[in-house]
Amino acid sequence: MDYQSILEDIAHAVQPEFGKGRVADYIPALARVSPAKFGMAIETLHGESFLWGDAEEPFSIQSISKVFTLTMAFALEREGLWQRVGLEPSGNPFNSLVQLEYEKGIPRNPFINAGALVVADVLLNHYPGPNTAVLEFVRKLAGAPEIRFDLEVMRSEQETGYRNAALAYFMKSLGNIHNPVEKVLGLYFHQCALAMSCRQLARAFLFFANHGALPATGERILALSQSKRLNAIMLTCGFYDEAGEFAFRVGLPGKSGVGGGIVAIIPNELAIAVWSPELNEHGNSRAGILALELFTTMTGMSIF
Ligand code: GLN
Repeated sequence: MDYQSILEDIAHAVQPEFGKGRVADYIPALARVSPAKFGMAIETLHGESFLWGDAEEPFSIQSISKVFTLTMAFALEREGLWQRVGLEPSGNPFNSLVQLEYEKGIPRNPFINAGALVVADVLLNHYPGPNTAVLEFVRKLAGAPEIRFDLEVMRSEQETGYRNAALAYFMKSLGNIHNPVEKVLGLYFHQCALAMSCRQLARAFLFFANHGALPATGERILALSQSKRLNAIMLTCGFYDEAGEFAFRVGLPGKSGVGGGIVAIIPNELAIAVWSPELNEHGNSRAGILALELFTTMTGMSIF
């Protein structure tokens, strides 16, 4: 498969999407990101890389980080984790408060903000220095010790993340947050502020295409069945209230973030990451979704 020329064709085909969306301006530091950025990276299990555009420029991965923290928490707590966070698509925006009240403080799934806050709370129980633990874990997955937190983005969310604070305090009132809310938010805002490139993200997700083991070293990150389960959660919940449409149009497990990044995997083959900061009304990258739709159309690859 000539992935390089497919990336080139995709880059041209997504041009009409630019100028139609909005960057994530509810986070002041992200409002300043150029909407014209566009990168794509493919990493295959055979060790090949295919890059396009701004594929090596780090950007704010935001909610994509929820996959990394969930992986850590799932490896530690195993099935017990699902007593505190559900497994159903939310059908609601990622920062919805309404649903949480109906469901008595048990978030629908680990990829909406409330679910990720519970996962952060779990990690606080296991690590004295959780920010460093998350950073080291992601560096290992990506094979990239240069990965850092963007502290400007982190502070920007800390100063304005009232909704996330509301979610966390609400769950605390119902007993589903065990640590001090400030600590939970501190970890959450750090993980969202991880700065990674498309290439690093594709590498970091490759173990999901490899039954839970790092392709480079063979080190097992998740058990086989856990890896299948995380892929299932990405498929059903990775795009919030657009998960159905993403499965319909793209047909791959994946995860988006409001920084404009999307990563998806094709089991036994590859991981692909796209970055384009202009978002649609669900908080997912407009050109990113179209790029991945074109990728599965052009290659004929899909999990279905
Ligand atoms: N940090 C963002 C928030 O909490 C993450 C949201 C996202 O990427 N969907 O609002």
